[in-house]
Amino acid sequence: MDSFKDFNISNQLHYAIDDLGFEKPTPIQAKAFSVILSGKDMVGIAQTGTGKTFAYLLPILQELKFSKQIHPRVLIMVPTRELVLQVTEEIKKLSNYLSLRVVSVYGGANINTQRQEVAQGADIVVATPGRLYDLVLSRTLQLKSIKKLVIDEVDIMLDLGFRFQLINIFELLPSRRQNIMFSATMTEDVNELIHDFFITPTTVSIAVSGTPLDNISQYCYAVPNFYTKANLLVYLLNDKDVFNKVLVFTSNKRSADRLFEVLNEYFGYEIAVIHSNKTQNYRIRSIENFNKKKTRVLVTTDVMARGLHIDDISHVVNFDTPSFPENYMHRIGRTGRAEQEGTSLLFYTEKEQEAKEVIEELMDMEISIIEFPEEVEISTRLTPSEQPKDEEPRSAYKKRDESLGSGFHEKSDKNKKTNQGGSYRRLIAKKYKKPRTRGDKNYNNRNKK
Ligand code: AMP
Repeated sequence: MDSFKDFNISNQLHYAIDDLGFEKPTPIQAKAFSVILSGKDMVGIAQTGTGKTFAYLLPILQELKFSKQIHPRVLIMVPTRELVLQVTEEIKKLSNYLSLRVVSVYGGANINTQRQEVAQGADIVVATPGRLYDLVLSRTLQLKSIKKLVIDEVDIMLDLGFRFQLINIFELLPSRRQNIMFSATMTEDVNELIHDFFITPTTVSIAVSGTPLDNISQYCYAVPNFYTKANLLVYLLNDKDVFNKVLVFTSNKRSADRLFEVLNEYFGYEIAVIHSNKTQNYRIRSIENFNKKKTRVLVTTDVMARGLHIDDISHVVNFDTPSFPENYMHRIGRTGRAEQEGTSLLFYTEKEQEAKEVIEELMDMEISIIEFPEEVEISTRLTPSEQPKDEEPRSAYKKRDESLGSGFHEKSDKNKKTNQGGSYRRLIAKKYKKPRTRGDKNYNNRNKK
């Protein structure tokens, strides 16, 4: 679908697109349109700036027939008030030639005004989960007519801790509905939500290139556990000339905080950490300081690092091995920009070995192994998620704890059965050829010649 003319949409929508000045659909728009129109559940992997908002709005508005009904038929949930306003604006632009009622619902603003707006009837509600739930509980808003649910920026939403609010809302929605979700990153949390609430969704993504840039050298270290990884990183960071601007990735904020604690003891103000529990101001300041080289090392998570503009990174350190290989490609792409040389290091435990191999399959090459340095102390200290599990039966109501979200976590029984890693691996293996360089440890160097 190279042109909006190929889209089966009304003249009114065509006029609105013309007014917006869009010449052709973006890749995510071209891919998502027919899937959403077919009524299937869909998971879109796309970040801000790809045109994802119109990717879901176009088919939804095409389907939405004029109605005077009070209760909304489409619910769009987003993590922040800013995004509520932005999406509402986009809907208004696209529905310029349609008769359509959209209401915005978000915290930090007068609830009574929003009550009145909702009471007048809406076709689409755009909301943050907390305020939406308040309005539903006070019976101002009824969700029984919702046919389509969109959750945008799911990764951020889960990172901010909205999981329980989302689940509460799911329970109030009719079970016969279409679920559409967009996320910039695939994380364990997002994956779990999809498995729990989506029905055989179609995944739509803009293919991540598995070809790393030639100017990025990639190495890996086999390391037994978290605190030994921390010892290794401290050892490496002691070389301040070589490791002069280091971006360290962990897969979740608990690991990020734990690592920061260790590094902070050794390097103090040279280290900063950002994730979604830090305030926006703190995050902005930390990134600025890192950019100006006032801090040498920035520890962050995959979700938070999206959209960051940072140049001249000397090293990307993958402290956890990402279970989704695309995240590895995004991470290492942060270094070696603008033809500069960059280095990526990957630390993997035995449990993470398979994830490392999936990454290698995606890239069609092996990552060179560096011998674990003798000088680095092997730690016997274990994080809560590395501790051996006792055999007590798990309570269904057990709160999410250390054992979730970490690179070493025990999967829930349900997920164990579905064997995510294996099936994902098979998928990737089908998509890409087997590595041609298995065992060839000098691939990187050879490739650079
Ligand atoms: P989003 O990824 O939804 O945040 O959109 C990013 C920006 O791209 C927004 O400012 C949109 O107005 C713009 N945009 C969306 N679709 C297109 C398109 N097909 N052509 C040009 N710009 C677009």
